[in-house]
This record gives sequence, C-alpha cells and structure tokens, in this order.
Amino acid sequence: MLNRVISGKIKICGIIGDPIEHTMSPVMHNAAFARMGLDYLFVPFRVRKEGLRQAIDGVRGLNIRGLGVTIPHKVAVIPLLDELDPLAEKIGAVNIIVNDDGVLKGYNTDAGGFLQALLSRGVEPEGKNVVVLGAGGASRAVSFILAERGANLVVVNRTGDKAKELADRILASFHRETQALKLDGENLAGALSQADILVNATSVGMSPNIDGTLLPAKLLKPDLVVCDIVYNPIRTRLLREAEEAGAKAVSGLDMLVWQGALAFELWTGLKAPVALMREEVVKVL
Ligand code: NAP
Repeated sequence: MLNRVISGKIKICGIIGDPIEHTMSPVMHNAAFARMGLDYLFVPFRVRKEGLRQAIDGVRGLNIRGLGVTIPHKVAVIPLLDELDPLAEKIGAVNIIVNDDGVLKGYNTDAGGFLQALLSRGVEPEGKNVVVLGAGGASRAVSFILAERGANLVVVNRTGDKAKELADRILASFHRETQALKLDGENLAGALSQADILVNATSVGMSPNIDGTLLPAKLLKPDLVVCDIVYNPIRTRLLREAEEAGAKAVSGLDMLVWQGALAFELWTGLKAPVALMREEVVKVL
C-alpha cells in the first residue's frame, strides 16, 4: 500500500521491459527516493516490442524524468533517443534514459555498475588478465568497460562466432586485442591458467536452474577473483565453489545495485544511498 502523499510536484521514473514482473528496480529506487526525502516515484511499465516507440513518445509527452530499459529494448531504443553517452554508443546498448526538458539521453550503467562492483571490493582490473564467459548483451557491457579500463580480455562463448564478433568490436572501439574462444573444456582450462579475474556473464546458474555452472570446480584457485553477474540466487553455485576454493567472490547483486545507484545519480544529481538500496533488494531476493 502506498502510504505517501502524491503531490503535483512529483517526478516520475520507471523501467520498461517485457517481462517486467520480476524487476528489482522499483524497490531499490523507491526506497532510495524516500530515504533522500525526494518527491520522486518509480514505476514498472510492461512495454511490448511493438509499443516501444509509443512508450518513448510517452516519456516526452508525460515529462517522465527517467527510465530504466531492460530486455528486449536495450538496443532497439537507441534510434528513438536524442543523445547517447559515448560509452553507451560504443557498447550499442542503453539501460538508462535521462529526460532533460524533452531531450532524451541514453546511458549504459550496467557497464559502470560492473566496474564499480569490482572497485568497491578492492579489485582493480587494469592490466589484469580477465576471462569473460558469454557474449550476449550483458557480456558486451562488462567486456567493454573492462577493455576501456585496460584489462586483457579473453571472451569464451558457447557460440564461438559471437565471441569473435565481440572481440572484433572491442578491437575496433578500444584498439585492444581480445582473444575469442569457443566454450570447451580445453579452452577453459587454458584461459583460466593465465587468469586473474573470471566473470560469468552468461545466464547459467540463474534461478530456477541454480545447479548450473560452466566452470569445473577444479579450475578454481585461491588467487582468482570470481564474479558472477547472475544475481538470483545471490550466491550462485559458481560463487559458492569459488569461495570453497579460497577465491574472492563478487556477486551479481553488487553490479545490480551499483548500476541502480549510478542511474539514481543521473536522475537526481545526488549521491545514492547504496547500502540501503542493497538491503532492499536482498529483502526481495
Ligand atoms: P543474453 O543476451 O541472452 O546472453 C546470454 C549468454 O549466455 C550468451 O552468451 C549465451 O551463449 C550464454 N548461455 C546461455 N545459456 C547457456 C548455456 N546453457 N551454456 C553456455 N552458455 C549459455 O542475456 P544477457 O542479457 O547477456 O544476460 C545474461 C545474464 O546476466 C542474465 O542472467 C541476467 O539476469 C544477468 N544480468 C545481470 C545484471 C546485473 O546487474 N547483475 C545486469 C544485466 C544482466 P550463446 O551466445 O551461445 O547463446
């Protein structure tokens, strides 16, 4: 139940996607707005593919302050915007829109959120050898920010061609050579033997298939940092096995919360109450 007064001054933010029922963004952002005493409200909108243009017209027409953008719209929304942050342009995907007096600008805070998640755990990827599993949308954000930060990347993907495509894009955007490998036991073992950081940027391990992992536990070692961008469950099988092997584990929850915190800062111009946002998501997960 909404136990607050909605005034005429309220600013609306929201998230568009399909499906949208499972989004964590409303709990995270509404709690943050309330804590900061802001007259803002965050609402989820189910927007089908064919309704995307109308939804974006609606953002202008209704003067909605900002939007989160999730599957399936992160790429398709780009031509409907007025401006793009340079990193979002390179990645080719937008997960946050800011509306400044009718001018809609797209950002990618998945990328910045992932980097912040690492840094906040004391992990600096610059100059490190990083193995990224996956070459889908989330991997693109993660791989680009790692390349921009100066990590040496190996992208490993079930569909080898997609790994190659991603590596080519990274080379074109950042002039950094990136190795692309097809996912198999031998390639994984070879890549892991040189790695400082491993990132699972696939959906493997996500609820309800929580026993899934792409990495045989025997390849995990104490001097490895293991990040899983899957956040449901918070402690995936991969992270559990990493901890058991003595490795440092970074949860996808951290990336989720930091991408939200960066969005909050873009919409409000204020520093986000990150710890509170994290607590609220943990309650729901
Ligand atoms: P996506 O574009 O559909 O990509 C999925 C990736 O997973 C592809 O590389 C795919 O390989 C791989 N994959 C899927 N099933 C596999 C299997 N059984 N074996 C091997 N590889 C498999 O999805 P996405 O948008 O990148 O999302 C990936 C995950 O990231 C999701 O779990 C999502 O919830 C999570 N995510 C988390 C955050 C966060 O803030 N923590 C943000 C964004 C996304 P192929 O190319 O071979 O199909």
